[in-house]
Amino acid sequence: MRRRQRRILVRRIILCGICVMLPIIIVRGCIIANSGKDEEEARGKGPLVTVYDDSQKSTFTVNMEDYLVGVIAAEMPASFDIEALKAQAVAARTYTARRLKEYGGSGCATGCDICTDSGCCQAWTNPAGFAGTDKYDKICEAVYSTAGEVAVYDGELIEALFHSTAGGYTENSENVFSTALPYLKSVYSDETSAPRYESTVTISRSQFARKLNSAFDCELTADSVDSKVSVSQRYDSGRVQMLSAGGKTVTGREFRSLFGLDSTNITIEFGKDDVRIHTRGFGHGVGMSQTGADAKAKEGSSYIEILKYYYTGISLERYW
Ligand SMILES: [Zn+2]
Repeated sequence: MRRRQRRILVRRIILCGICVMLPIIIVRGCIIANSGKDEEEARGKGPLVTVYDDSQKSTFTVNMEDYLVGVIAAEMPASFDIEALKAQAVAARTYTARRLKEYGGSGCATGCDICTDSGCCQAWTNPAGFAGTDKYDKICEAVYSTAGEVAVYDGELIEALFHSTAGGYTENSENVFSTALPYLKSVYSDETSAPRYESTVTISRSQFARKLNSAFDCELTADSVDSKVSVSQRYDSGRVQMLSAGGKTVTGREFRSLFGLDSTNITIEFGKDDVRIHTRGFGHGVGMSQTGADAKAKEGSSYIEILKYYYTGISLERYW
């Protein structure tokens, strides 16, 4: 009898143990399972970003820092100085964070936080395509060593616009995007050795006249273009604000788009049979010049100095 009672007692103790321990094991298991996201944030991976992949016509979700590795690879040559790449990482992180619904942003037109179309948001390339290379390591260093750092002005995330090459001076935001922002002001950018500092588009006189006539109905002929087409107004940066074409007014941006030019810093040279359109710089010219950032880094500037140079009056903060 005694032995039987002892067996029952042991069974009850084991059963009680299971009843007490099982919920603890289950709850602890859930905590461990759920802590993945917390741990990622603690390691500085940042908020989740929903991205519309324009080339695949699909959507994916990824944490901010891993997303930025693909952005930097697509937006700046990995051969650039590490400080320039870090500046690019902070600019791209700020640009993205400003669009996140989590930070009060309104996302992009696709309905996602951001898309991979550089004409709409930011370019992106899948990091799996260059994983394990020196390029991957260098870009990861630029992104993860600045993890969570963003640029702010007056306590708000800035519109961190950037472009390839300023061609001398960057541009005031209101001269390109109509909105004046105090941190997007024209500054000198030393980058004469940049590959696209200067370029030329050559076109026949008759083609030049035909293109302008079809876009602006300005009745030009091959013989009259040199007397009837001229730059009428420039911004202080040297970029063209207005041109006159057969009495019609054409903006510098319209002219750039019509002839597929690198920038609106335009000089027109009329030859006997052709027209040579010279440009300086590459891109809209607002915010940070990427080749200017690289030139500054090679002269010894840190990424913080580069960002503060191109974005007037900003400071850096850590968001995660
Ligand atoms: Zn977009």
